[in-house]
Amino acid sequence: MKITALAGGVGGARFLRGLRDALAARGLGPMSATPATVTVIGNTGDDITLFGLRVCPDLDTVLYTLGGGVNEEQGWGRADEGHLLQGELAAYGVEPQWFGLGDRDLGTHVARSLWLGQGASLSEVTARLAARWGLPESGFTLRPMTDTPVETHVVIPDDDGTGSRAVHFQEWWVRLRAAVAAQRFVVVGMDRATPAPGVLEAIRTADVVLLPPSNPVVSIGVILGVPGVRDALRGTPAPVVGVSPLVGGRPVRGHADACLRAIGVESSSAAVAGLYADFLDGWLVDSSDSDGSYADRVAVQRRPLLMSSPPATAELAGAALDLALSLRGRGARAVG
Ligand code: GDP
Ligand code: CA
Repeated sequence: MKITALAGGVGGARFLRGLRDALAARGLGPMSATPATVTVIGNTGDDITLFGLRVCPDLDTVLYTLGGGVNEEQGWGRADEGHLLQGELAAYGVEPQWFGLGDRDLGTHVARSLWLGQGASLSEVTARLAARWGLPESGFTLRPMTDTPVETHVVIPDDDGTGSRAVHFQEWWVRLRAAVAAQRFVVVGMDRATPAPGVLEAIRTADVVLLPPSNPVVSIGVILGVPGVRDALRGTPAPVVGVSPLVGGRPVRGHADACLRAIGVESSSAAVAGLYADFLDGWLVDSSDSDGSYADRVAVQRRPLLMSSPPATAELAGAALDLALSLRGRGARAVG
């Protein structure tokens, strides 16, 4: 079985770890007679250059989570982390200091930047990083959505309130904590971006496509903006099943509601499904969610959506997989 998933950072990575457990529990793990393979298409809109180093927060969260190196409480960054290097930079007055980069984490960014500087593509670099974290052994391939450098920027009111200015998504999210109303998001570089090698093929040839509960605007929404991705999802014969990132109309963590507000979409599971209406076949919403209106084609299932523990997460991922399998062979969705 070939599974393709689109993923941002923490929500995506936790779901993927649950998927790995769910596959093992179904006898589809890497050591089984019929191992499933999972291609993860990762968001690179969060990428940023800091201290001369290229940082890919969402790709790294997936690597660290699947590789067992993540800080579990935070959901991102490395476990057993120190901050000696950033302290030294602070002593020299080197900015920014609002983006925390631990010493172990910096090892990843130095390696990535070195290899990029030697001419490797982001796909090649990501494959090298993934080898260290054991993804190939568990049947997982992490592909950046594009090898073209792109960055999500956020248009916000300027300081005197008379005009507007754009800041990097990380500055809005981390430094401003998304408390300043976003007017719109602009993915700088997307106009010349092409999908990374294997991305469209992974969608077109998948048996199942899953959308983890990643941020619908700045994670999944940005991946959908890569030329060709949305068309591939519309055209794939694979069922596409997603998990809502909202419980009771609110994000479980982070500021997805502020992102939805910026694009004029209500903070509800039904409204998020509406963003995927042209290709979505199945949708998991929380048991506590109020009813919403969905396209006729979408099979909606209710269940607890909190990824509160590894077993609960495996159960959720297994439910998404089972729903997708039950929708297999439904035929290609009507185009248009
Ligand atoms: P980020 O890049 O680190 O922000 O991570 P993602 O974009 O992959 O995921 C962020 C989204 O995950 C947020 O909108 C959260 O609401 C959602 N999320 C986090 N934890 C959970 C959970 O336990 N259950 C569900 N359903 N969604 C979650
Ligand atoms: Ca992210």
